[in-house]
Amino acid sequence: MMRDRLDRDKIEELIRQAQESYRNAYAPYSQYPVGAAILFASQRIFCGCNVENASYGLTICAERNAIFQGIATGERLLRAVAIAVPTPDPAYPCGACRQVMREFAQDCPVFLVSGDGRRIETNLDALLPHAFGPEFKQGQGE
Ligand SMILES: [Zn+2]
Repeated sequence: MMRDRLDRDKIEELIRQAQESYRNAYAPYSQYPVGAAILFASQRIFCGCNVENASYGLTICAERNAIFQGIATGERLLRAVAIAVPTPDPAYPCGACRQVMREFAQDCPVFLVSGDGRRIETNLDALLPHAFGPEFKQGQGE
């Protein structure tokens, strides 16, 4: 299983960066800051926070913000995801973010962290079972 090769220190670093990232969230409308950190196959970590907009529908989640930053620098494979919030309960990623994660990983560990440090450890396949992914597009004209 992929998890076995995940360095424990790297996971701690990933969670720490997710916790730092929610401090930069721009969430004046929801007052619900979220931070995400993504460990990519290169072992680089990219971070993101939610960025809201007066035109609400333009808001981007922390998870997609972080993933897209990695993709923009050439990353293509997620190794682990951490999502942190300051609230008493950890937050699960929304459906859109689960689908975007699935574009860049068949499966990977996902760590959800609350404001007091409580953790839920799950994985992408559990969050988005029977997923539609890029492999279904193979064979279609490129
Ligand atoms: Zn989302």
